[in-house]
Amino acid sequence: MKKILVLPLLVVACSTGTTNNGANTVGETIIKFDYRPKEITQICDEQMKLTDRRVAEVLKIPKTEKNFLNTIEAFETILADLSDKSTPASFMYYVSLNKELRKEGEQCESALSQYLVGLTSRRDVYDAFVLADKNSDHKKLDVAQNRLIEETAKAFRKNGLFLPDGELRKVKELRQKLANLETEFSSNLNEVADFIEVTKAETEGLPESMVARLEKLPNGNYKVTVKATDYTQFMENAKNSDARRRMAEKWENRAAEKNTKLFEEALGLRREIAKLLKFKTWADYRTEDHMAKNAKTVNTFLEGLRGKLAIKNKKDLADLLKLKKQMEPGATKLNAWDGTYYANQLKKKDYSVDEEIVREYFPSGATVERMFDVYSKLLSVNFVQIKDAKTWAPDVKLYEIRDAKDNHFIAYFYTDFIPREGKYGHAAAFTLKAGRLVKGKYVTPVSAIVANFNPPANGRPSLLAHEEVETLFHEFGHIMHQTLTLAPYASLSGSSVAQDFVEAPSQMLENWVWDPKILKSLSGHYLDPNKKLPDDLIKQLVKTHDFNCGYFYTRQLLFGIFDMKMHSSLKEIDPTETYKDLYKELTTIDPLPNTHFPATFGHLMGGYDAGYYGYLWSEVFAEDMFTQFEKAGLLNSSMGRNYRTIILEQGDVYPADKLLEKFLKRKPNNKAFFKRLGIS
Ligand SMILES: [Zn+2]
Repeated sequence: MKKILVLPLLVVACSTGTTNNGANTVGETIIKFDYRPKEITQICDEQMKLTDRRVAEVLKIPKTEKNFLNTIEAFETILADLSDKSTPASFMYYVSLNKELRKEGEQCESALSQYLVGLTSRRDVYDAFVLADKNSDHKKLDVAQNRLIEETAKAFRKNGLFLPDGELRKVKELRQKLANLETEFSSNLNEVADFIEVTKAETEGLPESMVARLEKLPNGNYKVTVKATDYTQFMENAKNSDARRRMAEKWENRAAEKNTKLFEEALGLRREIAKLLKFKTWADYRTEDHMAKNAKTVNTFLEGLRGKLAIKNKKDLADLLKLKKQMEPGATKLNAWDGTYYANQLKKKDYSVDEEIVREYFPSGATVERMFDVYSKLLSVNFVQIKDAKTWAPDVKLYEIRDAKDNHFIAYFYTDFIPREGKYGHAAAFTLKAGRLVKGKYVTPVSAIVANFNPPANGRPSLLAHEEVETLFHEFGHIMHQTLTLAPYASLSGSSVAQDFVEAPSQMLENWVWDPKILKSLSGHYLDPNKKLPDDLIKQLVKTHDFNCGYFYTRQLLFGIFDMKMHSSLKEIDPTETYKDLYKELTTIDPLPNTHFPATFGHLMGGYDAGYYGYLWSEVFAEDMFTQFEKAGLLNSSMGRNYRTIILEQGDVYPADKLLEKFLKRKPNNKAFFKRLGIS
C-alpha cells in the first residue's frame, strides 16, 4: 500500500452512447463520503482488526502448502482491500466540509501508517512469504506475479526483516516515530492561518479581482493570507517591495519553530534507520528502488545540470535586474523577494503577455471540458459526467471513463476545483481505489483531482491563468495514469511506479498547453465563448515557454540538491543554514535573513525525501516521450493508443526503463530535455 497522493511541484467530451456497460447507475454510491461523526474512526479501527484476522488465517496454512496464490497474492489482496475501505475515509482529511471529519480522516491516515509499519515488520508474515516463494515454481508464474514477489521481497528487506529480532524491533520503532513526525509536520503546515496586513496603497499592481476578494480589516487595510493562491498572485503583482518582503518572510516562516525541530529530528531518525539497515545514507536507502538506483547517480545527474544551468540563470537574472533598474532607478541588485515580481513584469513588457487578460479566455468550467476533449481524442476515451451524483461537497463532479472504440466502462474520477475553508491547498491527484484484478474481474479504479482554482470575483466566474491550465493538464495526466491502468495488482497499478518516474506522464502532458492550435481550442472568452484567444496573444504566450527557464530550473535544482544533501549527511546538519548557503551559491541572490524555508518544505516530510530530484529526472523522460507526439501530432490517436497501452496501462508491472524503451523503440536519452532547457 503506497501513498495515495501525488504531491504537486513547488506549482467536453460527451460519450457516444449512454448504455450501461457495467458502470454504476446514477446516485449509487461509488465511494463512501457521507460519514457520521466517529464513523471514520470506527471504519478505520474495524478495517485494521479485520486485516489482522485475515492475515492470521493466511498464516495458518501448513508450511508445505503455502504457495504464491494462497500466501503472497493473498497478502496483496488483504492490503488492497484495506486500502479500498480506508482510503475514502482518510481522504476526508483533505476535502471534507466538516472540521471534525477532517480531523478523523487525519487520525485515520496516521493510524494506518503506524499500523502498516507494524504489519510489514512482522517476522511471521515474512517467514510465510519466504516459504511461499520457495514453494512456488517461478517459471509457471507470469510477469506480474514474479514482479510482485520481487517487489515484496525488496520491501521486506528495506523494512529490516533480514536483521536479528532486537534490531528489527528497533527499526520498526524508529519508522513508527518517523511516520508520526511526518504527520505532525504536515498538520502544522496545514494549520497555519498567518497573513500580512497591507494598506490600500500597497495593493498597487494587484489585479482588481484579487483586491475585491481580499478580506478588509476594520482599519481599512487588507488581509493577504499565506495560502498558496494568495501568496503567488501577491508575489507576482504587488509593486511595493517592502510588502513583498513581508509576504516572503511570512511564507518562509510558516510553522518555522515547530517544523524545523521536527525536520531535524526526522533527519536523525533517518540516519539511524539507514545505518541499521546497512545503507550508507538515507539517500541510498530511498533511491535503491528508484530508476536512479543510488544517491551517487542522482548527485551526478544534479551536478551535471548545475554547471549548465548556471550560465542560463546568470542571463535570466541579468534581464530581471535590468528591468528593475529601469523601474527603480538606483537599484543595484535583486532581492530574494524580487524574482517572481520582475519575471512577471518582464513577461508583460517583453512578450506583451498579461496573465490577467489571458485569464479571461479560460473560464474554468469550459476549459476543463475542452481539456477533456483533448485527452479524449488523444487517448481514445470518453468522459461522461454522471448527473446528480452524490459527492462530498457542492461543485464536486463525478465522471465515468469509457473506451471510445467499444464504449466499455473503464473507471471513475471526481473533480474538486473550488477552494474551501479547510480544504487541501494545492493541486493533486488522489487514488481512491486502485485498479486490480479480483477473481477474473477488474476492480474499477476511482481517482480524484483536487485543486484550488482562482475563485469567482467581481461578478466574473473562476478564470484560469495559463499556468493554472498547465497545472490542470499536469494533474489530469496523473489521473489518466491512475485510471487507465490494467495492472493486475494494486501495488503495481496506476501511478504506483518508481518515484522518480511518477511525474513523467503528467509533465509530458504539460506540453500540450504550449501548442498554438491546442491553446486556441482550449480558449473561449468568458463573456463570449466563440471569441478565441487572439493569434498574436497565442504567439506571444508560446514564446514565454522558454522565458526565465534558467531561473526556474535553478530553483528546482536547488531543492533537489538541498534534499540530497540533507539525506546524505552522516552527521547532524543544520537545514536552515545549509539551505541559505546553497540558495546563495546556486541563485547568487542573498537569502532572506530570519527565514526557515526547510520548515515549509512539505515534500521532504511527505514521501519525497531523497526524491525531489524526481521532478527533474522524470522530466528527462517526459520530454523524450513527447518527441514521439511532436512527430506524430499532438492529437494523433494511434500514438496516443501506444502511449496508453505501453506506459499507462502497465503501471509498475515492468520497470520504467523497459516501458520507455518499448514506447520509444530505442533507449531513452536526455536530448529533448536539454533542448527544452535551452542547453546544447
Ligand atoms: Zn505531479
